[in-house]
Amino acid sequence: MTEKRWVWSEIDLGAIAHNVKTLKGRTVPGTLFMAVVKADGYGHGAVRVARAALAAGADRLGVATVDEAIELRDAGITSPIQLLSEPPDSVADIVLAHGIVPAVTTREFAGALGRAAVTRGIDARYHLKIDTGMNRIGVPAEDAPKFAAMLSEFPGLSLEGTFTHFATADVPGDWDVARQLKRFNDALAGMRSERVDPGIVHAANSPATILVPEAHFDMVRCGIAIYGLHPAPSTYEEIDLKPALAVKARATLVKRIGIGEGVSYGLTWQAGAQTTIATLPLGYADGVHRALSGRMQVLLAGRRCSQVGRICMDQLMIEIPRGVEASRGDEFVLVGAQGGERIALDELAELAGTINYELSCSLGRRIARRYIEGSDY
Ligand SMILES: *Cc1c(COP(=O)(O)O)cnc(C)c1O
Repeated sequence: MTEKRWVWSEIDLGAIAHNVKTLKGRTVPGTLFMAVVKADGYGHGAVRVARAALAAGADRLGVATVDEAIELRDAGITSPIQLLSEPPDSVADIVLAHGIVPAVTTREFAGALGRAAVTRGIDARYHLKIDTGMNRIGVPAEDAPKFAAMLSEFPGLSLEGTFTHFATADVPGDWDVARQLKRFNDALAGMRSERVDPGIVHAANSPATILVPEAHFDMVRCGIAIYGLHPAPSTYEEIDLKPALAVKARATLVKRIGIGEGVSYGLTWQAGAQTTIATLPLGYADGVHRALSGRMQVLLAGRRCSQVGRICMDQLMIEIPRGVEASRGDEFVLVGAQGGERIALDELAELAGTINYELSCSLGRRIARRYIEGSDY
């Protein structure tokens, strides 16, 4: 492969397969598994991740936007694809044209979807989203039975499933999870007494899949954990996940600078002695948050080296420790393992004051991906 740029990510599809199988292994046989590949597969590349996850046993895919679903369909993926939220009324027909299963949370969208389905002469499958306490999207739990009964009268609609989403599933033993579960179970019972079959019932994101077995119902929806990233420190000891993502770069320049010389915009970092500085050709436009300036480390020859000065849009500088040799073209690791050392995405997230979810999404943006095929799927 021609290197157009000395920056790349490596995505281990075998790790994705391992994680899907490991997560599935925590559910009782027959439980469906949705691989959530929104945000371009959390920055790993939605199409390749989707194929690896399906081959490893995922039953369907979850996305956030209609365009994300269409990208998967255009790549030839035929599995069920669900939209995890409700799109605008105006795309109802496009949703049907691509065989996308949307969430329904309002009467308005339900009407638009039903009308589009009648025009096409089909029934539109949808999942009813119930808000059990997160207060983000969904029909309020108390209203869900009556709402579901009303939708069952709409022509062109077919309820395939019913779901909710937890606000605090990463906190073991959390009381709010129990409260959301109770509201959800009450709403399901209410639907059944209205003679509405809730269909495929689902609630668990990655943390609930790992920590809350009573939330598994008929299907789990795993995002972050299929990428080998932990939803929170509370799951570190609970499950063996393999991180799929590594981010690497080659030095474009290695030079010596004298004592008192500054580095990068603002010259905020100054050399305290004669120092070797390496420049790497990536920056905040690639998702290496500027907030990491002067905080993050990278690996060279299995040794940790400090990043110094402000991170620029397209470049960042590294102080080469005494005793370490560095040359133009040398491979540095920003995320991943080298020698016996490893830099986890969680380490960078912590330093940037954010979560691994946000960093993995943003790291995908401009970096060419190299996929490593797995052997076990
Ligand atoms: C993003 C999302 C998920 C996946 O969450 P993870 O914590 O990444 O596993 C599951 N369900 C819904 C509704 C989502 O929006």
